[in-house]
Formats: sequence, C-alpha cells, structure tokens
Amino acid sequence: MSKRTRFLRELFAPMQFRCVCCGKDVFDETGFCEQCKKDVAYNNGKTCKRCGVAIEGEEDYCGNCAFDKIYFDRAYSPFCYEGVIRDVILAMKFNNLGGNAAVLARYLVYVAQREHLVYDAVTYAPMSRASYKKRGYNQARLLAEEFCAILNNTDLLAECIVKVRDTEPQEKLSRAERKTNLTGSYRIHPAADVKGKRVLVIDDVKTTGATLNECAKALKRAGAAEVIALTVASRRENFDYEKSQE
Ligand SMILES: [Zn+2]
Ligand SMILES: [Zn+2]
Repeated sequence: MSKRTRFLRELFAPMQFRCVCCGKDVFDETGFCEQCKKDVAYNNGKTCKRCGVAIEGEEDYCGNCAFDKIYFDRAYSPFCYEGVIRDVILAMKFNNLGGNAAVLARYLVYVAQREHLVYDAVTYAPMSRASYKKRGYNQARLLAEEFCAILNNTDLLAECIVKVRDTEPQEKLSRAERKTNLTGSYRIHPAADVKGKRVLVIDDVKTTGATLNECAKALKRAGAAEVIALTVASRRENFDYEKSQE
C-alpha cells in the first residue's frame, strides 16, 4: 500500500460519530448518515479552472473569473453550497458546532492531497473583532486548525489576515453590493511574514468569492507569491442562490 493510499484510508477510517447534518449516531467514514448522504452535493463534476465552482457548458472559466480581477491563483471546494451541506455549514457558523469542523476538515485535506496542493503557510479568512466577540469563535479558523492537526506537519499562520472594519453580512446583499462591500477591509498583520510564500487560505464557504478575493488581494500586496483558496463549499454557477435561501 502506498503512503498516500494509507493516509487516505486513515483519513476516512470509519468512526463512531453523530451525522453532521441530523445528529443521528452512525458508524461510517463519510460524516453523514445514509439518509443525509443522499442529499450531499459533491463538487466533483466540471469546475472553473480558476475558482473551482461547478460550471456547465463549454467554457473553462465561470462568469466571475472571465470578467473580474481575481487575486487568488486557484480555489477548490469539495462540496457545492446547497442542500444538507449548506445546513451543516450554517450550523457550524451559528450554533457553535465545532464538531462539524473536524469532519469537514477531512474533506479539505482530501482535496489538498488529491490536487497535490503545495503551500508554505496555512491561514484562514478572518472575522472583524466585533463579529468575533459576538460569536466567540471563527469557524474558518476552526477548519484551518483541524486541517493542520490532521496533517500535523503544517503550522497554522494565525492572525495573519486581519479584518479591519465591520461590513454588512455578505448574505444580506445583492450580488453587485457584495463585490464592493468588502473593498479595503482586510490587511495583513505586520508580524505575519508572507513575502515570497505560497499561502493556503481556508474558509467555510465561497459564494461570490468576494471575501477570498479581498484576502488574496491583501496577501499579494504583502508580497505573497501565490494564494490558494480552499473552502468546504462553493456556490454552483447559475445556481439560484437567492431563491434557495427562502
Ligand atoms: Zn443524517
Ligand atoms: Zn471561476
């Protein structure tokens, strides 16, 4: 058995846990019970070559990447942001379900291995100080911590990207507003040395990609050589996101 095969077997070893969607006790390797598993949208079809969202048709790039200035070099997500995956992420975000981060981080590691991602530092999308105080934790940081813990040869660059001002929650804005809402709201902590480094940025979800794009912009300005974004889920191109929220 190759080292990689053994690693993947261990990564997805069956274990006793509660289904991340419904909480039912299961013994499984996926993190989902049989019922919820049916509704999991894996992002394993055709994806945009730049930002990794699920796309259809002939083009290599999604509408965003074809027209916008994108600062990250590549982005990947194991899941599409819909159905049970959306519920799991929202639960992690708003109901303090850190256990979900442990399961979901295994999928991030899986993608990082599958895509042979090479990076010098791992960090995460930050929250503003006020939001952090209110929630008490940052789910992106939890994911990044779990990610580094599984790989145990990777150090987390904590407090690297700083959100300097509070912004309207992205999910409450129109598509156009989302693109400008975050402009200039991220900077790199002076103590974080990213110069010449390939930085992996972890976040829970990528919808328009505006958050990750602003983070990547700040990293590039601070001298990062490459920025790779890794999120649990991303929106599918042309998926009626607004409608699915109702
Ligand atoms: Zn379930
Ligand atoms: Zn794209």
